[in-house]
Parts: sequence; C-alpha cells; structure tokens
Amino acid sequence: MLSADLVLRGGSVVTMDAAGTVLPEADVAVADGAIVAVGAALEAEAARVLDVRGCAVTPGFVNAHTHQCLLRGTKEDRPLETWLDELCFPMEHALQPSHTVAAAQMNQIEMIRSGTTTFVDMYRHLSDIAPIVDRSGLRAVLAPQIMDVGNGRGETWEEAEDFVRAWAGQHPRIDAWVGPHAPYTVHAEGYLRARRLADEVGTRVMTHLCETRFEVEEVTRREGVGPVEWLDRLGVLDGLLGAHGVWLSDDDRERLARRGASIVHNPSSNMKLASGVAEVGKAKEAGVAVGLGTDSVLSNNNLDMIEEARLASFLQKVTLGDATALPAAEALRLATMGGAEAIGMADRIGSIEVGKRADLVVISLEAAHMWPVFIGEQTNIVEQIVYSASAADVRHTIVDGVPLMLDRELLTLDEAEASEAVRRAAADLIGTLPPTTPYQ
Ligand SMILES: [Zn+2]
Repeated sequence: MLSADLVLRGGSVVTMDAAGTVLPEADVAVADGAIVAVGAALEAEAARVLDVRGCAVTPGFVNAHTHQCLLRGTKEDRPLETWLDELCFPMEHALQPSHTVAAAQMNQIEMIRSGTTTFVDMYRHLSDIAPIVDRSGLRAVLAPQIMDVGNGRGETWEEAEDFVRAWAGQHPRIDAWVGPHAPYTVHAEGYLRARRLADEVGTRVMTHLCETRFEVEEVTRREGVGPVEWLDRLGVLDGLLGAHGVWLSDDDRERLARRGASIVHNPSSNMKLASGVAEVGKAKEAGVAVGLGTDSVLSNNNLDMIEEARLASFLQKVTLGDATALPAAEALRLATMGGAEAIGMADRIGSIEVGKRADLVVISLEAAHMWPVFIGEQTNIVEQIVYSASAADVRHTIVDGVPLMLDRELLTLDEAEASEAVRRAAADLIGTLPPTTPYQ
C-alpha cells in the first residue's frame, strides 16, 4: 500500500508525456510535493483524497510571458508604439510598489482561478512581489524589467541586481532572472550587463524579441543587423528567453536553436496590438523550444491559458489557410511541456509523470458546453479542453502538491482584500496618466 499525502481519484489524466498518453479514470498520487504514482485504481492511502470523476487532470499551465500589470482596459485600440508612449511608459514612470502589489494579487488570483501554476513575470518592484508569490503558492520566474530608453525605465540596475542576487536559486518555487526590456529600449551595454549578472549568479536572461516590424527595422538601421544577430554578436543569446518572436528569419531561428534560446508565443497580444503572426511551426522545426504566454492584462486582456491555447491554434489555422495546423494536442503542449522546456524546467514540471513536481489542474467536464465527452479509444478530452473549455471550468489548482484552489474556493489569497487594493491603486494610478485623446 502506497502512502501518499494526496490522491486524485478517477479523473481522465492528460499526462502530456512524450507519447501524449491520456489515461481514462486514473489516479494520481502525490507525496512530498511530487507525483509518486499514476494509474488506474492505485492502492494508496492518503491524508487527502479528491474525487475527480467527471473531470480531466492536466499538468498546471505554464504562462511563459506576462507582466503583473494593473490598468486593464485603459487606452485601448492603439498600435504598440503609441500604446507604449501613451499608456505603458507614463504609467510605469508613475508606478509605485503599492500599485504593483495590488496588480500582483489580482494577476495571481486570476492565474490560480484559470489553472496556471507557473508564470514568468518581467516587471517591477519584485522585492515587494516575491513575498506575494511566496504566499499565493504559485511557481514563478521573476525578472526585473530594465530599460535605458523611455519614460518608464523601471528600477535602477543596482536595484535589479540586488533582487536577482537575493532571489536567484534561493526559493523552492521562485527564481530570479534578468529582464532587459527589448532591443529598442536597451543599449548594448545594458544587454552585456544583464549577461554578466546572469552568468555570475547562474541564472538566465529574458527579453522581448522581434515583436514588431518596427523593432526589427529600428535595430537594423542602428546596428546594421537584426535583433537576433545583434544579440548573438553581443554574446547574450545563449539560453535567452525571447518573448514574441514574430519577425524571425530562417537565420534567426537557426541562431536561436544553436544558442539554446527559446521563444514564447503570445497570440492574443500579437493580434490585439497588430504585431503580426509568429511562425510557431517553423520555430519548432528549427529546434527552438516554444512556450505560450498571455503577455500582460493590458494587451490581452486576461491571463487565461486555455483561451490562449485555443487562439494559438486558431491563429495558425487562419494564417496558414490550413485547418490541420497546430492541432489541439500541440496547442495544449505549448501551454504545458512547451513552456516548461522554454524556461528550462522540463525535468520538474510540464507533464504528469512520476518524479515530477505535483503541479496539477483539475478541469470539470460536466458543463453543457463540454458535452459530449468520450473516453478510451475515441477520447476527445484534449480537444474539449482546448476548444470548448473556459477558465471557469477549472475546479482545483495544485502546486507542489498543495491546493491553491479547491472547488473554486481560493485558499492562499484573499479576493476581497485584493479587490479593495486594486480599486484604490487603480484610481490613484489612472490619475497620473495624460488625458485620453482619440487615437487617429
Ligand atoms: Zn511582454
């Protein structure tokens, strides 16, 4: 008899292992935060047993690119450069820790409620945010966002370095990377400094990369080569996590693969800001690890990874004129194992396999919009999750074997307290923005 801390009984287990195994009516046993057994009718006794019949059990979602922002639904319908100038940069210039702390609570509540268990955040005031992640129970990579150019510069290099040194590799669920913002806002010296710091503390660098045509043209005008080749020449491409990767050439993809760099696809943000369509298939064929991200609530506007997987699939289909492009299983893979690979955690998270951390999501299949469900040979569970489910179908969210939400009840963060903090912080922050003028 296996002794476990937690057993999930009788769910359809979507393992996301290499073979894409879906186990009908199986159990998942967890001990010391790790998955210790997966299979039908496990002989196990546990302190807590969750009956998850009628549900799917999937690996927790990995949101590989986001920023914990506050002012959702403000200064909408602008192209990226105008949006940065009218909203992001003035807002970031005025941003205080109290604003970011409120945003972090709001963002993390939404992530837990929609089944994200790991997120990669590149933003501000992370010394104040890391304790919230400690409390929420989520797994996170936090990178202080640094800029040389623009009104909303972020913290100083000294503050960023202090944070990275204090948090990189020091917490079981929280890691710290270095986050130079983008090739059009950070000079060569900034990227070199990021590389030196990352090498010194043994961590990684993330940046926005080839997000817009403007960025590629601007860097090419300034440097004589595009952003990827420029960063390669600077020696900062090794192990880099590049958000977006919309405007990549074949040569760029080969360089990224050669340097072990990864890309995060952000379909909602790319559509909303009219940035373009990332060629996900070509990146994967070139050997580049590809994850999936929501980007921030400013450019999405939610943090729902189920919707993001669905839109990733639909965007490839309509762009390529090919309904077989990025099928459901591949879209779900982007949201789980793909993200784990992109952020170098594939040995710990991203699939339901013995030995991995118990980052698990239980998704109800019982609502009418999920009917009919087939299990066994004809199983359509992966398709139902990607194409039919919504965030509200997530019933339980578990990280390291610890439930953060059970039966839709949040266990680690206080929604009423967060709501009040967001109301106050947002009213304060919006008052600092320049007046809205209709965008021409
Ligand atoms: Zn971003």
